[in-house]
Amino acid sequence: MNNIMLTGKTAIVTGGGRGIGRLICVKLAERGANIVINYAGNDKEAELTRDLCQLAGANAVLAKGDVSKMKACEKIFEVCEKSFGPPDILINNAGITKDNLILRMTPEDFDAVIAVNLKGAFNCIKLAFRPMGKKRSGRIVNISSIVGIGGNVGQANYAASKAGLIGLTKSAAKEFAKRGITVNAVAPGYIETDMTAGLSDELKNEMLKAIPLARPGKGEDVASLVAFLCSEEASYITGQVICVDGGMSV
Ligand code: NDP
Repeated sequence: MNNIMLTGKTAIVTGGGRGIGRLICVKLAERGANIVINYAGNDKEAELTRDLCQLAGANAVLAKGDVSKMKACEKIFEVCEKSFGPPDILINNAGITKDNLILRMTPEDFDAVIAVNLKGAFNCIKLAFRPMGKKRSGRIVNISSIVGIGGNVGQANYAASKAGLIGLTKSAAKEFAKRGITVNAVAPGYIETDMTAGLSDELKNEMLKAIPLARPGKGEDVASLVAFLCSEEASYITGQVICVDGGMSV
């Protein structure tokens, strides 16, 4: 079997309903993995992701639920267990923004972003440890952001959550290594999705000027790296943060 193929593996992708998560689902499906697609509430988009995975020849099921709640995460893992057995791959991709300057940011908006982006990943990592540990192999990829490395005006909550994900990644990598589980973070730059569609043209142009490769990224750019990190070929890479940003953070 080709070392990049994931035939027979099972992947849980949080926030897989649309955007980058959808492209990750489809890429892993193309490599032969069974896919559990988690999402928050947008059924139509998630059903489209499921259809695309099935068109790619994979088995795919939906698992709606808010990853910030441990009970909901337990349900996602139950859907996985019932449909395909224990997971081999976990992609913590679910994320939200609630941007504002610190002076105007409410404590509620700070907590909400940390709860989904950081605690959601913690919840799922905690649940993945036992089944992956039993198999003595596993792949966990956390979708951080270059904003978690460099910070950003108006995104203190988001930047803190994404920086926290990097600390979580490195700690989990050290804790899980002896069970054969790798844990890495991917830090995208400016990727064209619903999350960035609402930004002003002025801000988009400013970001474009700061990207040496002079174009926004696509979901596929992120998905290709994620698929590689899930493969056998990446078995000696753990605890790393890899930017997919067209050189923006250089
Ligand atoms: P989108 O807003 O396009 O999609 C977000 C996905 O997350 C949706 O499927 C959404 O579900 C799901 N989601 C949101 N909240 C929850 C929750 N509480 N529980 C479960 N699922 C949830 O985002 P992107 O594709 O742009 O971003 C994906 C990840 O990449 C995020 O973590 C983001 O921070 C990160 N990122 C994105 C960048 C970009 O430029 N786009 C840059 C750097 C990082 P539903 O469809 O049901 O609403």
